[in-house]
Amino acid sequence: MINIVLFGKPGAGKGTQAEFLKEKYNLTHISTGDVFRYNLKNNTELGKLVRGYMDAGDLVPDELTIKMLQEEVEKHPDTKGFLFDGFPRTLDQASALDRFLATKNWEVTATVALEADNEILIQRLLERGKTSGRIDDQDEEKIRNRYQEYNEKTAPLMEYYNKQNKFHPVNGIGSIAEITERLSQVIEKL
Ligand code: AMP
Repeated sequence: MINIVLFGKPGAGKGTQAEFLKEKYNLTHISTGDVFRYNLKNNTELGKLVRGYMDAGDLVPDELTIKMLQEEVEKHPDTKGFLFDGFPRTLDQASALDRFLATKNWEVTATVALEADNEILIQRLLERGKTSGRIDDQDEEKIRNRYQEYNEKTAPLMEYYNKQNKFHPVNGIGSIAEITERLSQVIEKL
C-alpha cells in the first residue's frame, strides 16, 4: 500500500501529473476538486453547498471536504494505494487524513510537491480558463484569492509533512514527461 499526496499551488500541474502517475503505479486517484466539480455539474445537495465557495476561489469548509474524502476512500477498499490530488489543503484536513487512514492501518507514505513560481502559474491558469469553462480560472482576482488561500491555509502543510520526513519537492517547470520522470524518481525510492 502506498498513499501519495500530490501537493502544489493551483495550476502547478497536479491533475496532469496524476493522470500519468495513477496508471504507472496503479493508484486510485482522488481529486477533491474534480469530485466537487462533478457535484456542481449535477447540482447535487453537496454541489449546492459548495458552489459559492468554489466560484469565489475560497476553500470549501473542512467538515464538508473531509466527509466527502472519506466517502471516496471507502469506495475503494481493495486498492493498492491512493493518489490524493488537492487534498489535504489545511492542517485540520491533514490530521483528519492521518487519523482516518490509521483506522485502516494505512498512512500517508509521502507528499510530492510540484514547485513553480506564482506569476508563471497565474498566467497558466488564465490560459486554462479560456477553454476549461472553470469560473475560478477566468478572473485574475479569483485566482489571486486562491493563492491567498493557499498561502494562509495550505502552505503550512509543507512543514507538517517535512517534520515527518515525508515532504519531497520537485521542480514543476519543464515538459510534462520531464516532470513525470522527476516525480517517478521520488516515488521509486519510497
Ligand atoms: P482544484 O481543482 O484542486 O483547484 O480545486 C478547485 C476548488 O475546489 C478549490 O478552489 C476549492 O474551492 C475546492 N477544493 C478542492 N479541494 C479542496 C480541499 N481539499 N479543501 C477545500 N476546498 C477544496
